[in-house]
Amino acid sequence: MLSKPEASFITVLPLLRPHIRQLVGGVLFMFIYVACWPLLASLAGQLIPAIGRGELVTVIRVISIALFVFLVQKIAQFAQDTLFAGPSLRISQDLRSDLFRQLQKIELRALEKLSSGDITYRLTEDADRIGEVIYKTIQDTTPCLLQLIAVFGYMVYLDWKLSLATLLLAPLVAIMVGKFGEKVMIAAENSQKKVSELAGLLGEAIVGLPLVRAFAAEKWLQERFDQEVDQHRSARYQTLKLLALQHPVVGFIEATGILAILAIGASRIQNGELDSQGFSSYIAALLMLIDPISHLTTNFNELKQGQASLKRLNSIKNQPREISDINDFKPLSNPKGRIEFKNVIFNYERNTQVLNNLNLEIEAGSIAALVGPSGAGKSTIFSLLLRFNRPQYGIVTLDGLNIAEMKANELRTHLALVPQRLTVFSGKISDAILFGRKVTNEQLIKAAKLANAHQFIIELPEGYNTILEERASNISGGQLQRIAIARAVLGNPSVLLLDEATSALDAEAEDEVQLALRQAMQGRTVVVIAHRLSTVQSADIIFVLDNGIIVQKGSHDELVKSKGRYRELCERQFIRQSIGS
Ligand code: ADP
Repeated sequence: MLSKPEASFITVLPLLRPHIRQLVGGVLFMFIYVACWPLLASLAGQLIPAIGRGELVTVIRVISIALFVFLVQKIAQFAQDTLFAGPSLRISQDLRSDLFRQLQKIELRALEKLSSGDITYRLTEDADRIGEVIYKTIQDTTPCLLQLIAVFGYMVYLDWKLSLATLLLAPLVAIMVGKFGEKVMIAAENSQKKVSELAGLLGEAIVGLPLVRAFAAEKWLQERFDQEVDQHRSARYQTLKLLALQHPVVGFIEATGILAILAIGASRIQNGELDSQGFSSYIAALLMLIDPISHLTTNFNELKQGQASLKRLNSIKNQPREISDINDFKPLSNPKGRIEFKNVIFNYERNTQVLNNLNLEIEAGSIAALVGPSGAGKSTIFSLLLRFNRPQYGIVTLDGLNIAEMKANELRTHLALVPQRLTVFSGKISDAILFGRKVTNEQLIKAAKLANAHQFIIELPEGYNTILEERASNISGGQLQRIAIARAVLGNPSVLLLDEATSALDAEAEDEVQLALRQAMQGRTVVVIAHRLSTVQSADIIFVLDNGIIVQKGSHDELVKSKGRYRELCERQFIRQSIGS
């Protein structure tokens, strides 16, 4: 569950530090921009009576000065906005990058529980919204607040009694804005949650579309999608309704206030406590308050929506992290690849034992096959070896060294996983093999040759530069497996962890993959989750797992001779293959 994260923008403030020079520059221009407002109000005070008296020369003089002040103000505004835009964009970039870094460190079990669409939404939309809120706060909210202070200060200077009456209205507006803000935040949170859920469903739908089609379940999926879309619309409608209500209500309160002030002002002029030029300036200043108040209202709502986004982003930080390395980790250079599990007890969730006092030894350079029914714990053995998880009891060793005492990244250079189906990022074939590692061209080709992939790669239109489409849809399953093998052997690992594909390839493709494997296995320890008879037959040792326990071990010939789990499995699982071959 993603829960109780920090939602205060104060947590974002340290991110502003590197941009302090730009911000200070922006603030300087902001002061110029704000100072122009009382100046303009004072000019309006001179202009309106002059118009009334028909003093054309004064009118032209005041208008010329006002034009100049406006020009200065707008130039200052442009400078301020551009100086603030850079840091705000940088912050959303930093937030995104930081969160992606955190995402890469989340414990895999926790990561599996997150929806990819949801995370995508958080790292794109939510991060953008936060950047916008920061920009708005610096570029709009702050000058609006300063404008309020400066203009109101000028009003107090003109007539403090009238200003006191004006001030009495302010808390009313503030309370209304505050109340709406809270409601908007809740509504916005709800609507963002709905978009995330929609993105999650969309992600699942795209991956699962072939299956949906195969089961003729389009109608069901469409209905589910429509339902989510409808829920999102209704949540968004709630937010918009609140916003729609807020503007007229706040506007009405403002209008009432202005009319009341006009009435009070008129009576003060009648009593001789204020002259008409002063009152004109006062009203001009008052009108100058409306715009910043309306901006502040909108920005306050956006801040609340931004807080909802911040909360959702920060919840990623609260996810459990991958086990970190111990400080005095032990290096292991050139391991031979001897693996041992000693009394390993492991469970993912409490109360469900997955590995139950598991002991196994795999000699360096040998081929060990793990067989057993689904859920027996075979993949868990891989995940413990790769240190994605850590046993609750017992140890796992590589060449006698407890892998818990090694540096995870170093351990993972000694072990290479060949998964059932390789995940490739869209990009060149060479990048799929390199996977971020920097090697010479010769080393890349050597790995590809070892994986029996070089020939088919150079026959592709762009050779190693051929772009792999998403999910590698432009190469065959057998070719993808050979790329997986090339990626694994590139780092020259001492141990290959091979998760044999369950789906059968056609005979020719199978032969190509088998050749690749035979070559890749040379001189390495191989642990294979075996689904094929040929694999178990060639293994030096077979471990038969059931319910997290090794129920039998030995070579194929030994095990088929004795009555037991292996013979049953063979009869059930491999019989079709043996008939077929
Ligand atoms: P196998 O590879 O033999 O099919 P696994 O090692 O994948 O078996 O699973 C062993 C047991 O652990 C199963 O009961 C499975 O449900 C459970 N399991 C596997 N992965 C997880 C996980 N990430 N979180 C919780 N339980 C898991």
